[in-house]
Amino acid sequence: MERVLSGIRSTGQLHLGNYFGAVKNFIELQNTHECYFFVANLHALTTHPDPKQLAKSVKTVLAEYIACGIDPNKATLFVQSDVPEISELYTLLNSMAYKGELEKCTSFKEKIKKHHENINAGLLTYPVLMAADILIHRAHKVPVGKDQEQHLEMTRNFAVRFNHRYGVDFFPEPQAFDFSGKLVKVPGLDGSGKMGKSEGAGNAIFLSDDDETIRDKVKAAKTNSGPTEPNSIKSIEIENLFTLMKLVSTPDVVKFYDDKYNDCTIRYGDLKKQLGEDIIKFVQPIREKIVDFENNDALLAEIAQHGAEKARKSAKATLDGVREIMGLTSIWQ
Ligand code: AMP
Repeated sequence: MERVLSGIRSTGQLHLGNYFGAVKNFIELQNTHECYFFVANLHALTTHPDPKQLAKSVKTVLAEYIACGIDPNKATLFVQSDVPEISELYTLLNSMAYKGELEKCTSFKEKIKKHHENINAGLLTYPVLMAADILIHRAHKVPVGKDQEQHLEMTRNFAVRFNHRYGVDFFPEPQAFDFSGKLVKVPGLDGSGKMGKSEGAGNAIFLSDDDETIRDKVKAAKTNSGPTEPNSIKSIEIENLFTLMKLVSTPDVVKFYDDKYNDCTIRYGDLKKQLGEDIIKFVQPIREKIVDFENNDALLAEIAQHGAEKARKSAKATLDGVREIMGLTSIWQ
């Protein structure tokens, strides 16, 4: 059976971008593949989170995974820091990664521009830790959003380099995956690009947002004065609203507003109202389950412990192989 791995950072609550870029695929893949899904709390350390807040966030993401439909009896669900084998592989893979390629990585360049007061080594070697996450289970498929494409390419480079350096065929070359055949980028509501946890207030719709918050956020989304010529090209802000609509509304509804846009009779207030209600319809059942699971510490602990045991077994098998290949075992025999 092909192996699948993916994770989400515990830097806040999950939003529609996480759901449609990643989690939606997890739910499908858990029925047909050997799946490992984790809460990436080590990746969250680069921004120096408050320890109590970080621990709380881990529980939230775990509860949200389950509320979305990830079944811990089908998929292995674990917390990254509960599997120390990942950190050891990260150390070992660091020598496969070169400073130049790490510095050229788009996410690194973006982050140092935004946070020039905190350019730490963890940020630079983020793609190596991500490669360790994936390669520790020798995963074949990695369901992620479009923003992770470059990191996946780097993971393949490290895997190929390792195989070549040691003359082995040990690591598979993992591929980014989405059921639609195309990686997804869910736009934010502020017209600035992708939906993200820390892109500023109003950018993201969280799975835990209440109805009024959702209505307010969608209402405040940027629009323009509307088309004056039939069939005009949509501005980025309007295209973003249609992209969101295609995710949560029925095809009939999307067509209705598309036709109205094309014959210049569209009223953005109506479109936003419809979009808000369709997002609410989607989010509501998930939100209710999040509350249930978040309050069940005993269940979350049991799931995380069981998941860590299973993940460590798979991780140890890989690490034993890597240690052997690199000449780190049997030194004293
Ligand atoms: P992060 O929240 O950055 O840890 O991302 C976790 C997963 O969600 C990764 O697979 C990302 O590619 C995916 N993701 C995050 N934001 C978006 C977005 N706006 N559109 C599509 N996928 C996303």
